Amino acid sequence: MIYPEQLAISEQGLTHAKKETLLTRFFENMSEKKQLFLGYQTNQDVQFSSSLLPFLTLNLLNLGDGFEDGSYEINAKQFERAVIDYYARLWGFSTSFPPRSYWGHTTAMGSTEGNLYALWNARDYLNGYAVEGHHQAVQTKNKPVVIYSEATHYSVKKSCQILGLSTFNDAGPYLGDCPINQGNWQQALATKESGAVKEEDLYRIAAFFLERDYPIILILNHGTTFSGGSDAINRIINHLKPILGNNSEFDRRYWIHVDGALSANFSPYLKDDPFAISQDPYEFRHPDVMSICSSPYKWIGAPWACGIFLMREKFKVGSPHRPSYIAGRDSTVSGSRQGIYALYLWERLSTLGTQGLKKIAIRNEHNANYLHQQLTRLAQFQPNLIVMPKPNGSNIVRFSTPNDKINRQFSLAQDDVEVKGKNQRMSHVVVLSHVTQHMLDRLLDELSTPYAFQKPKSIQHPLTANYFGFFK
Ligand SMILES: *Cc1c(COP(=O)(O)O)cnc(C)c1O
Repeated sequence: MIYPEQLAISEQGLTHAKKETLLTRFFENMSEKKQLFLGYQTNQDVQFSSSLLPFLTLNLLNLGDGFEDGSYEINAKQFERAVIDYYARLWGFSTSFPPRSYWGHTTAMGSTEGNLYALWNARDYLNGYAVEGHHQAVQTKNKPVVIYSEATHYSVKKSCQILGLSTFNDAGPYLGDCPINQGNWQQALATKESGAVKEEDLYRIAAFFLERDYPIILILNHGTTFSGGSDAINRIINHLKPILGNNSEFDRRYWIHVDGALSANFSPYLKDDPFAISQDPYEFRHPDVMSICSSPYKWIGAPWACGIFLMREKFKVGSPHRPSYIAGRDSTVSGSRQGIYALYLWERLSTLGTQGLKKIAIRNEHNANYLHQQLTRLAQFQPNLIVMPKPNGSNIVRFSTPNDKINRQFSLAQDDVEVKGKNQRMSHVVVLSHVTQHMLDRLLDELSTPYAFQKPKSIQHPLTANYFGFFK
């Protein structure tokens, strides 16, 4: 335990010895939590290669557009481009012939910045701004409307607010009756148990706006935060294509963005050839996907949050400004970006190689299946334990939330999920490469105890001796 007053920054500063004691205690604390950290999409298996240590004595800054060198010479843009090129190949954005047809960058934040950037670019593109592929600005009739499901990450809603973008809930009431949800515009676009959007609802909402000449921004999920389930992206786009039509210089009709925060990092590796694009309904690599983002730190592990953003270059608006101060285009949200992030990702990816990455994906899937099977078995004996089906390709296992002590012990996040028409409080385990079978067995042991799923009476009376007696 560290008390706030021990950390107060004083006139004289702290002695070396005091600082060391505090930092050691803090590290031990955090390391202990790491031993049983199961409930969030963050890989705690952080491998910071010693060959990168010297770079921590520099301020490697990737200032502005990563594809332009600029005048800030201490940068790691070469490494950033190598990372972006790899993801472009993995996500089907690259062609085997020049010139390069994609643009992107490693972000200063995670997928939140990727979603924000996608929405910013989509907004300006659909409002008729000039883009890389069409140099003329055009007049447009209506402002774009953002469509997303209830399983979509909260950063999308926040980004809409930042950008002044209307969601379908905002814009709909002015245009007519809601074609779904018994006419209720305020309700979110519902999802199935897997977290995938209900496609019929999505089609009706998309048609409603397209018929009225409103361009749409469609956010599709490849790996939702709570279930790890995915929208059937290939099927959805193919189905919508006849009403989406084609984007052209004078007719700006749609933007499709894939939020692949977790799954876009690994789902290709679960296939024999990670670079081969299939016609599977759930395939997320479709020629009409205009932008994708992911948070690589969630999957391969990193000492910081970081992200990848990729888009088709011909639609790029971004910021066209070229401040002479940086001698390049100011095309990202954050002016300065951390070069070390790019260097770190390059080091990890080139150490593991495609084969190493594949091994990690397969091991995680194996462990997730193990946990799912064991929990299903346990559910025969634990009357209050419901285990949700594991969506295909997901490394997340959802089950009834246990008591508080277990949730805290294993850092389990919670959410309400509708099961057979009833809202159930669920917890989830996210199986990443720091998760060993031993950790899963520890959790299973705890979940087998008689009181594991009992709501302690102490919710009303948190200080009864009984509560502490139970859960010591
Ligand atoms: C985690 C997550 C994000 C946000 O990523 P950050 O790295 O926290 O910015 C966006 N979308 C989904 C689906 C996520 O799971």
